Amino acid sequence: MTAKNTTPVKKPRVGPRAQTKKSVTKAYAAQSPGARLAPFQIERRDLRPQDVQIEILYSGVCHSDIHMVRNEWGQTIYPIVPGHEIVGKVTAVGTKVTKFRRGDLAGVGVMVDSCRECENCQKGLQQYCKVGMVGTYSARDRNGDITYGGYSKQIVVDENYVLRVSDRLPLAQVAPLLCAGITTYSPLRHWKVGKGHKLGVVGLGGLGHMAVKLGASLGAEVTMLSTSPDKEKDARRLGAHNFALTSDAAQLKERAGYFDFIIDTVSAKHDYNLYLHLLATDGVMICVGAPPTPAEVALFSLIGGRRSLAGSGIGGIPETQEMLDYCAEHGISSDIELIDVDYVNEAYERVLKSDVRYRFVIDMASLT
Ligand code: NAP
Ligand code: ZN
Ligand code: ZN
Repeated sequence: MTAKNTTPVKKPRVGPRAQTKKSVTKAYAAQSPGARLAPFQIERRDLRPQDVQIEILYSGVCHSDIHMVRNEWGQTIYPIVPGHEIVGKVTAVGTKVTKFRRGDLAGVGVMVDSCRECENCQKGLQQYCKVGMVGTYSARDRNGDITYGGYSKQIVVDENYVLRVSDRLPLAQVAPLLCAGITTYSPLRHWKVGKGHKLGVVGLGGLGHMAVKLGASLGAEVTMLSTSPDKEKDARRLGAHNFALTSDAAQLKERAGYFDFIIDTVSAKHDYNLYLHLLATDGVMICVGAPPTPAEVALFSLIGGRRSLAGSGIGGIPETQEMLDYCAEHGISSDIELIDVDYVNEAYERVLKSDVRYRFVIDMASLT
């Protein structure tokens, strides 16, 4: 036996609390429901063995950021640093990271962790984790610390919740795929929407424009159902075959019983019954938009025609990777307006007026 073996070895402390050193990071935050977003400093944890550190280059502005900053869903933890459409470059990796190397492009979406053990996590449906996924921002991680999102210079995330990003697409335009892209791709794939199907998309914003692009790419006949007449030309350019103005009762009546699927992306209170009547027999209306107030549904709209009303939440990690790969292969990315971070409060106001073509993306280089 050598001396080396007889020396009592002090075991390194392992586990989440072992590393307490933290790095200070510039960010944009809101401190209370009525507050504007303003410069703020946060701390990111030092790398654990499976962590990836990413310098954030672009961060998309999702309508969920606005719901959350204003506490419209009643679950916000302040201060809040929003942003869950993140792309950037890997700047460091933990000792046990196998999927990423320094310099790689990487993406982070709506979640940064989940229990990893429940039935849904095992199936790759981490967004439906039975214990609860850990949101990228304004959530408590498994240590109890508040998570801070992408309106910041860097983020540290476990590699199992980081996505590979191709260099084949313009990076700023890839950012919105991490939420708007996957949230529309996932139901399209789940319900196997494609050739021979008539798909209606309600609301031409961030999610809506991705639903049009992806639906058309998968082979469906796509009709844009919009409140904005001036978006018709864009809708057609994005891939819609038809356009209907939802404020015109005659245009809706023409399409009664027409659609196999409708994806509703609307962020505010509106009448779901109007659209349920547009479904064919056995048609499915999939709600991805998440207005803060409950919806009133006349059940006869469902009974007459054996129609279904369904919901869908983002997508799991494997499906998000599949979506990013699909988009890279098919040249699909988001139509964006690139902004500096100090424009974000104005951008929110414009999103609320349905005045965005079709996603604001923050150039994080503007955060100095
Ligand atoms: P967005 O860019 O603001 O788009 C929403 C669109 O809905 C608007 O452009 C507008 O399109 C239409 N609209 C707005 N107010 C309306 C009203 N009162 N009546 C009828 N139509 C209206 O928002 P987004 O980022 O796409 O997000 C949409 C919703 O999805 C939000 O509630 C968000 O929180 C939610 N979301 C859910 C998930 C999920 O996992 N399920 C993920 C991400 C986001 P037109 O001008 O064409 O009418
Ligand atoms: Zn989102
Ligand atoms: Zn789970």
